Amino acid sequence: MKKTGTVYLVGAGPGDAGLLTLRGAELLRRTDVVIYDLLVNAELLRHAPRTAELISRGKRTDVSQEKLNALMIAKAREGKCVVRLKGGDPYIFGRGAEEAGELAAAGIPFEVVPGVSSISAAPNYAGIPLTHRDHTSNFTVFIGHEGEGKTASSLDFDQIARISGTKVILMGVTHLRELTLALAARGVSATTPVAIVERGTTGRQKSVVGTLATIEKLAGKEKIAPPAITIIGDVVNLRKHLNWFEQRPLFGERIVITRAREQAGDFAHRLSELGADVLELPCIKTAPPTRLGDVADAMLELNSYNWLVFTSANGVATFFDYFFKAHQDMRDIGGARIAAVGPATAAKLRELHLQVDLMPAEATAVKIAAAFKKFETIANLKMCLLRAEVANTELPMALETLGAIVDDIAVYQTVAETEDVTGAGAKLLADGADWITFTSASTVEHFHGRFNLQTLLKKFPKTKLASIGPETSKAIASLGLKPELEAKEHTTDGLLAALFKDSQRGSRK
Ligand code: SAH
Repeated sequence: MKKTGTVYLVGAGPGDAGLLTLRGAELLRRTDVVIYDLLVNAELLRHAPRTAELISRGKRTDVSQEKLNALMIAKAREGKCVVRLKGGDPYIFGRGAEEAGELAAAGIPFEVVPGVSSISAAPNYAGIPLTHRDHTSNFTVFIGHEGEGKTASSLDFDQIARISGTKVILMGVTHLRELTLALAARGVSATTPVAIVERGTTGRQKSVVGTLATIEKLAGKEKIAPPAITIIGDVVNLRKHLNWFEQRPLFGERIVITRAREQAGDFAHRLSELGADVLELPCIKTAPPTRLGDVADAMLELNSYNWLVFTSANGVATFFDYFFKAHQDMRDIGGARIAAVGPATAAKLRELHLQVDLMPAEATAVKIAAAFKKFETIANLKMCLLRAEVANTELPMALETLGAIVDDIAVYQTVAETEDVTGAGAKLLADGADWITFTSASTVEHFHGRFNLQTLLKKFPKTKLASIGPETSKAIASLGLKPELEAKEHTTDGLLAALFKDSQRGSRK
């Protein structure tokens, strides 16, 4: 008989993917099954192995609590490791304790991993600490309704109104009117500051501030919808000074990243730190080249080249994957000079402790050829271009015009990425975006293949395109479109700087 698996009730945190605990991430990385709620940030599913079974559970998917309990138990009995991912902390509302009770009754081993609760995280991201020595040293948390449109029956408003200090209401939006009236009728001052934070800690966070008397109207005007948290008390005023998150330069801007997943991490992270609502929608991925034999041949002849020319960080990574399959020793690379087009490519080589002899800053064939010409006479020199399949022929031709003998070796090919575990594609189609960033001509081509750029821009006319450099802009132009901005330095840092600059211009308007 198979050993029973363990079920982990894991707190996913309030929304920001960075607020998952280390223990939660560790368990996700080795789980067989993930059962997650609607409130959970789907980005977290990226931690799970590709082979993991992902089961979503929300308002739209019809899995009753009974079925869900039975499912967890059945999967564990199959010997599987099950992560039950729940919004915020698993034991704070949302029936986590009931689920744990079912597991205990069924004799299934379980662990409960605490999570960062929206109770404190959402107010924090809106600039509101729940306590402060000068204001209050206690807070009361309660829920506004118990589902099915029912106001929470167990609430004793007399008592809640009497307690001093901050009040925090979860699930309170749909009954905001009743809740505020109930408190006001019991003597809570109409001028008490109140804030509502919708989708706190996410790039879509929205806050509304008023008083007990005005908040319902203001929330209605701003179309505040669940999930949202309501904070009542003087601490709301501290937001004027402590609103660190919503003041970030790219706050409120939804920015789509189209580059390959393995390459997107750093760019995505830095955009998020500037406050952007990042939608990772990888449209390309790398695959082995069609003619692997050419790579094998080049590996044997490395010593015969005068120059090895890399045009992308990907080219460096894939070349050395093959290199170390064929050779044991870095010295087998021979004495050729090394050229790297662009700083990101050069940085990748430096990681391997290889010095770059020449770094043309711009990726156009003309500029690269000019850089070589300035460096030395390349007539009769043997050059090995290590780059993507079906890269343009302009570069080898430009080098041949200068008399070089060029081998154009494809070390990888770029193909369409179609996998979308986080549902980013659906989100884009539903709400659009402020920016779509393109970091290579292939991202343009494959994004267009999947979404049709013209159609998308017709549906969301406010969506702007951002290009990393001239080659990418050319690909956008070939669709009859024009990028709103092009990075000065053709790296993701350059693109980030351009987006930042644009946001500063916007804030001065
Ligand atoms: N276990 C969760 C709470 C589940 S109850 C936790 O610890 O956070 C669901 C309620 O939590 C929502 O109706 C809303 O009031 C609140 N909530 C959850 N995530 C939120 C978020 N990102 N921003 C604001 N409120 C949130």
